[in-house]
Formats: sequence, structure tokens, C-alpha cells
Amino acid sequence: MSRDDRAEGAPASRPPSIDRMARWPALAPLIERAGRPLVVEALRAWVEARRSSGDVADPAACAAWCAQRLAPLASPSLKRVFNLTGTVLHTNLGRALMAEEAIEAAVTAMRSPAALEYDLDGGARGERDDHIAPWLRRLTGAEAATAVNNNAAAVLLALSALAAGREVIVSRGELIEIGGAFRIPDIMARAGCRLVEVGTTNRTHLKDYAAAIGPETAAIMKVHPSNYAVQGFTKTVSAAELVPLAREKGLPVIEDLGSGTLVDLESWGLPHEPTAREAIAAGIDIVTFSGDKLLGGPQAGLLVGRQALIERIAKNPMKRALRLDKVRLAALEATLRLYADPEKLARRLPTVRMLARTPEDIRAQAERLQPVLTQALGGDWQVGIDAVRGQIGSGALPVDLLHSFALAVTGRGLDRLADALRRLPIPVVGRIRDGVLLLDLRTLDDEAAFVAQLPELAPGSVA
Ligand SMILES: *Cc1c(COP(=O)(O)O)cnc(C)c1O
Repeated sequence: MSRDDRAEGAPASRPPSIDRMARWPALAPLIERAGRPLVVEALRAWVEARRSSGDVADPAACAAWCAQRLAPLASPSLKRVFNLTGTVLHTNLGRALMAEEAIEAAVTAMRSPAALEYDLDGGARGERDDHIAPWLRRLTGAEAATAVNNNAAAVLLALSALAAGREVIVSRGELIEIGGAFRIPDIMARAGCRLVEVGTTNRTHLKDYAAAIGPETAAIMKVHPSNYAVQGFTKTVSAAELVPLAREKGLPVIEDLGSGTLVDLESWGLPHEPTAREAIAAGIDIVTFSGDKLLGGPQAGLLVGRQALIERIAKNPMKRALRLDKVRLAALEATLRLYADPEKLARRLPTVRMLARTPEDIRAQAERLQPVLTQALGGDWQVGIDAVRGQIGSGALPVDLLHSFALAVTGRGLDRLADALRRLPIPVVGRIRDGVLLLDLRTLDDEAAFVAQLPELAPGSVA
């Protein structure tokens, strides 16, 4: 006789055992859905919660209570959202959306074995960088290329491989901090390099670099000021000026381009953002940039430059710790292949497609959606259309410049509405500015899904 069975004969005030409750037919569907361990955990909480009131042995009430408790675990924590913030590459919302070609390649790599480090021609061991290096060489004009986890890792690895234990010269105007605790002085310290600051915040001259070079200097570094602009009385030293000095002293120049595009954004009416090809052409020895910013691919850090330096970087033990997995390599390769045909980029690469959208196109969408949202909100709020300025995001072109249109909601209790939008099945993230809730439509791709869930905002349901 088990302890369970004895419990059954106990006085009515004794709660049934957890094991016994887990066998209640009322709980069977939940166990099927959520699995026994989670249901047992919920049952313990149920007994605890009902300890004082005593009415534990009510299977229907118990099943409903447990189902509600476990509901959050059934939906993913990393949820799909609508990014209507006006920032196209929003770091907190996952940056670049990938092209269908990249998604397909990633899914195939997830599902099947892949020739990741295997040379199918010779049947010998291959290199994982071989899948992307030829594309990066072709697209940037560099001699060699490699890739790691993200651009922060690329900078860390380049510094560590080329300058550990020695000095690296950086202009004070370029000692950046970007979100998520990436600060050049800290990265420098982690890489084991000694930072030598030159110039001032607003002005650095070539002679400042020249005066700082000494026997301990291992490299000169340039950093693209991604998320701010120094304006007014300023002077920076261009790569074209810096490279001859570095050559004369036998030093490599490393440049962290941040977003680093592979194509000229001017083709889509956007201001110029430095390309990796330009940096290589200017003589920069190692250029690093992100895979999931303007490039529009998966999170990655790309390093392109001189063969001998890339080899040193690739052989560094840290490379092994920072390398890319097959899923991201597959997506990256597929994304880079799209750049072979730049004219079709705006159609195939979501990042470029969104950046290239014309204000007229976005305004037309706003006009379509204004009555739909107005009806969904049922008179509690007013919906207008505002001309707004969005951002590329992720440090590219930091000043607001993307002319766009937003659904502009006004009325009392905007925070409440913003909450309700974030609680929709596909949460909608906008921004509140000067008492207006703005839903910037530049990045609304899936209009049908957006509209389909609006009825859930019905008046009265926005608590
Ligand atoms: C974004 C950025 C980084 C970090 O890149 P991640 O890919 O996010 O690691 C480093 N440097 C600059 C200048 C940047 O803009």
C-alpha cells in the first residue's frame, strides 16, 4: 500500500496527494500540452495557495487555475513584434530582418548536416570562413576576410591579435561608447592593449598621431562615430591622410566602421555612409563592421583587410571562442550573395527595402490605416497622420533624417493605450513624443497581420 492510497482514506480535511491530483481527468489535457513536471509544479502552488481556504479538491477549479498559471510558459518569451518606433535597425528589437534567401539557407543549415568545414572537392577538411570570405573580398576589394560573433568581437579580436601588450593610438574624438557597454577604452583594456589618446574631443590633427608614435606603438585605430556627430569647430584626420604616416612607420591602421555598408546608400536617396570598400581603397589594413546593421544579415562581426593580418587574426585562439555557427554562416553567405545584384537589393533585402521606401508610399499606407485604427479605438482617442522623422538606427547616420509618416494618436491615457498595444498577440511598439503616440509606418511590412489584431483593442477592452 502506497502513501498515496493511505491518504485517500484520510479525513476530508487532508488534501489529496499531488500524485493523485495529477491523475484527475480534468488535468489530462493540460498535462498533454504542458508536460507533467510543469503541471506538478503548478499543483504544488495550487495546494499552497489554497492551504488556508481548504477547498483544494475541486478538479475543475484546479485545472483552470493551473492552466492560467502555466499560460505564460506556453508562448515564447522572445516574441515577434511590430517595430513602429521609426528606428529601422532597432537594437532592442533585433536589428535587421533577413531576406527570404537568408532565412531559407539558415533553415536548411539547421535541419541537415552541412559542409561547414569540409571540402567537398577533395573530401578533406575545409575552413568555415571559406563560405563567406570570397564574397567579402569581391564586395570590398580586400585581400582576405573572416567573421566572428559581432562587431564588438571583431574589434576585440583584431586588437588582441595585432596589438596585445602594446600601444594603440586613437583620437579623443573617436573614443565612443555605443549601447550595451561597448566602450573603446574598455575594449582596448580587455584586448590587453594600452590606449594612447591623441588630439581633443573636437579636433585631432595628423601631427598629433605622428607625435604619439613610439617604439611601443602596435597600431593606429580609427572609429566611426556612429551614434553622435561632432559639429562646429572640428577636425578629424581622414584615412587617406593617416595611411601614409602609418606606412612610413610600418604600423597597421585598424578601422571600426560600425554599420559599414557594402553599397552606397545614395542610390536610394540617403546620405552617404562610409562603405567597407572605400576604407579598403583608402589603405586601411583591417576594417571591421556588423552583419546585422546596414548590411541586413544575421548578427556577425566582419573583418576584411590584408592577407597577412587576417591570417594572424584567424589563428588567434580567441577566434575559436568568437566564431560563427553554421546557421548564421548560411544566412550571411546568402545575404552577401544578394549584393552581387545591387539593383535588386531594394526588393530582396528588407533593410534596404524599408530604408528606400518613399514618404509618398508611407503616407498612402497611413491613409489606408487611419480609418481602420480610428474604428478600432472607438472614439476614445483621435487618430491623425503626422509627418515624422525616423532613424536608420544602430549607429548609422545618427541624425534624424528619414522622412516618414506615422499614425498619430492623441487623447487621454496614452500610456494605457501604449500598454494595450504592447499586449496584443503580436505586440506593437511605437513611441510617445510630446503627448502623441506615434506609430511610424516605414517599417510596417505585414499590414494584414497588423490590421487583423486591431479588433482586440475594442473600446472597453483597453483596461
Ligand atoms: C554597432 C557598433 C559596434 C558594435 O557592433 P555589434 O555588431 O553590435 O557588436 C562597434 N563599433 C561601432 C562604431 C558601432 O557602430
